[in-house]
Amino acid sequence: MDLELAGKRALVLGASRGLGKAIAQSLASEGATVFAAARSVDKISDWVTDHETVHPIALDLAKIEDVDALAARLLEDGGVDIVVNNSGGPPPGSAQAADRGAWISHFEAMAANLFHLNSRLLPAMQQRGWGRIISITSSGVEQPIPNLALSNGIRSAVVGWSKSLANEVAGDGITVNVVMPGRIHTERVDELDAAAAKRTDTDVAEVSAKSRAAIPAGRYGKPQEFADVVTFLASARAGYVTGSKIRIDGGAIKSV
Ligand code: NAD
Repeated sequence: MDLELAGKRALVLGASRGLGKAIAQSLASEGATVFAAARSVDKISDWVTDHETVHPIALDLAKIEDVDALAARLLEDGGVDIVVNNSGGPPPGSAQAADRGAWISHFEAMAANLFHLNSRLLPAMQQRGWGRIISITSSGVEQPIPNLALSNGIRSAVVGWSKSLANEVAGDGITVNVVMPGRIHTERVDELDAAAAKRTDTDVAEVSAKSRAAIPAGRYGKPQEFADVVTFLASARAGYVTGSKIRIDGGAIKSV
């Protein structure tokens, strides 16, 4: 299947490691020109092998001036065809413990500034009559994860935004979708398992085994398996998929 990604321009946020990095590499391997953004350009440059295809960009999503500078830079050359919205995860905690300041600051970095960036990049896509917007959220938007109230709440706002936008721009040839990782084996997941082991005074292998056993597939997903789905959604072949939430979770979400 030809994904027809050659010559497309893609922006991937949070691309220094993990899911963002895997998606950026996957889109580049299909022939797209990728603008890979994260706070540290050095960390992106560490994995970039082809500097003709992948362009590292410094961006702190918490800073609106960074977001506006990125939009201006991309629009100078006509903008992008594909946007992959990705960000860091907020700290754990209960809904009762999350204070107003935390809600506002994390909403800004994980939602409001992303919405603003996409709004700036959209008119160029509309002019070309083609676009793909894919937002990474979490299984927590369908099955809230205990002790991750900020993540469950803010990522649900991304889902509401995505569906609203999908309805508005479907007629312009632009698809807008959400992908929901369950447990994909990135550095972050290793860090979370290590933190859980420390908190409960358990061996990390035991924590990880228990976590894998709760997933019907019996294992964590591979970043490439996640990136493959996103790459398909970014392609010409997925032109009739819009306004959807797509699970990539090995069956972990309990509801249908
Ligand atoms: P990760 O922490 O390894 O990667 C996050 C990326 O975002 C990194 O490149 C980081 O540098 C970047 N980032 C963080 N804060 C930023 C900021 N203010 N501005 C710009 N870039 C910033 O996480 P991951 O495992 O690759 O997951 C990606 C996203 O998906 C995260 O939001 C995570 O919470 C979420 N998620 C992941 C899983 C999983 O199984 N891996 C499950 C559910 C949700």
